[in-house]
Amino acid sequence: MSSDAAATAVGSEAAAGSEAAAGSEVAAGSEVAAGSQGAVGSETAIREAAARIAALGESSPRPAPDPVNLPMIRHWVQAMGDTNPVYTDAGVAPPAMTQVWTMRGLRPAGGEDPGDPLGLMSAALDEAGFTSVVATNSEQEYHRYLRLGEQLTVRSSLEEVTGPKRTALGEGWFVTTRSTWYVGTEAVASMMFRILKFRPSAPPVPSAPLDPSAPSAPPVASAAVLRPVVSPDTAFFWEGTARHELRIQRCGGCGTLRHPPGPMCPVCGFARLEYDVAAGTGEVYSYVVHRHPSVPGRRLPIVIALVQLTEGVRMVGELLDIDPERVRIGLPVRVTFDEVDAELTLPAWREDRR
Ligand code: ZN
Repeated sequence: MSSDAAATAVGSEAAAGSEAAAGSEVAAGSEVAAGSQGAVGSETAIREAAARIAALGESSPRPAPDPVNLPMIRHWVQAMGDTNPVYTDAGVAPPAMTQVWTMRGLRPAGGEDPGDPLGLMSAALDEAGFTSVVATNSEQEYHRYLRLGEQLTVRSSLEEVTGPKRTALGEGWFVTTRSTWYVGTEAVASMMFRILKFRPSAPPVPSAPLDPSAPSAPPVASAAVLRPVVSPDTAFFWEGTARHELRIQRCGGCGTLRHPPGPMCPVCGFARLEYDVAAGTGEVYSYVVHRHPSVPGRRLPIVIALVQLTEGVRMVGELLDIDPERVRIGLPVRVTFDEVDAELTLPAWREDRR
């Protein structure tokens, strides 16, 4: 079993249509070698740090605070909308939950884990000026189901550091770590996790209070906009936005609509993909007003809405040209299309004054 980015997908309705979904799967851009831009001295220091940390091998085992248990499974399957009864009836945990068991919590006792290879490598890159971070991709492998009562430990190692690379976000280094989960000495799951540590290339967009009567902000260079990852599962969606169509994936077997798109129908398991073109209407199901931290290519605050489409699925997108004070649950909205450049058209929403 393998699950792309299962770690970051937990609990997020982040959508193909949401470049503003706060950095979960942001395109790190093309991996073009950055040539001689970086200072040779800091490059050497980074390579030395990488070699030193990689040579440490696997960190010492860090135990999960609790054994695999039913209450956490129950919360997780409810949050994920996973109704498979095996997880609450048969005493096995959802494989994609593996990382959850060893999470350290919001305020870990003892602060940062001093033996964590990712923390050590991040510190070395911070020191060299590559202070920003974005997760680029991860892959998990599950060797078997976990059972109630099992006690996990996790060990991590630094697998690879490559760079300097020039990316859409700025010059940076890709850092790949591998975590392995154990029950006793048996490896039960592993995860490759890759981040980009970069030096922001563009000055931050100044934050300003939203005043609808003020002259509009100067256009932002499209190069500064965070770009979504286009995969075989989501290509149809972006081909749609380019034509100003909002496409919803429809199962070729049972006809169920779903969003975000995926390779297989969660209802019937059919893998043939079709789509409907949405009417483009809906209402605000939930929203946040994002004031901090800064978002490349955006003047804050921005309103990010979870829109319940008339067709029934939900999509995340920016709600444009509205005073945050006006936004409310149930506000009628209509889709609009933001043509960022020739390659990217983002769906967004505006209040629908029907
Ligand atoms: Zn189906």
